[in-house]
Amino acid sequence: MRVLLVEDNIELVALLKRGLAQGGFAADSVGTANDADHAVTALQYSAVVLDRGLPDDDGLRVLRDMRRRGDATPVLVLTARDGVSDRVTGLREGADDYMAKPFAIEELVARLQALLRRPGNLLGKQLSFGNVSLDTEGRHVTVAGAVRAIPARETAVLEILLRRSGNVAPKRLFEDHLFGLSGDVGSNAVEVYVHRLRKMLADAGATVKIHTVRGVGYLMAEEKPG
Ligand code: CA
Repeated sequence: MRVLLVEDNIELVALLKRGLAQGGFAADSVGTANDADHAVTALQYSAVVLDRGLPDDDGLRVLRDMRRRGDATPVLVLTARDGVSDRVTGLREGADDYMAKPFAIEELVARLQALLRRPGNLLGKQLSFGNVSLDTEGRHVTVAGAVRAIPARETAVLEILLRRSGNVAPKRLFEDHLFGLSGDVGSNAVEVYVHRLRKMLADAGATVKIHTVRGVGYLMAEEKPG
């Protein structure tokens, strides 16, 4: 899952990225409210970690604009201020959670995982289709009851397909999740990962298959026996 980190403290960004990676998240980071506006409109993130004290604006302005556009991406607000009124303001503007600095990175990762487990945002911990399942926190893939070693990017492809199971997932979605903003995406990069995953699933005896929908994206469907 890819999260956007909006924070201007470079050292904190480095620490957060490391902690998030250990928690199974890939993170893009921006340091201003203006860049955050562009990032959240360009990509669909699983969650946003938003600092309030940004050089060009209060982070809450970014949040308010997201909610006005109908963007319901979970947002965890970070702030140096810990007054009750700041907290209330943040939640009223549509924040899903709130943490005051300084905080433990482990706690932030745990809270982010909890946010993504909340019903209503379609993000379950355990995703399954056919005999394939993925533990989205531990990043374990199980096929026919056996845990399979699947590399991170192929696992990310699988996660998107599982979340969309039965529906076509547009190619763009894979590009965004695999490569994010820093993406130097080769024209066939997504195909390469899908192809590898397809082979891994077939070798493992999966009852689901990944179909290519030309010009649109990919679809995971269950194979009917016989
Ligand atoms: Ca700051």
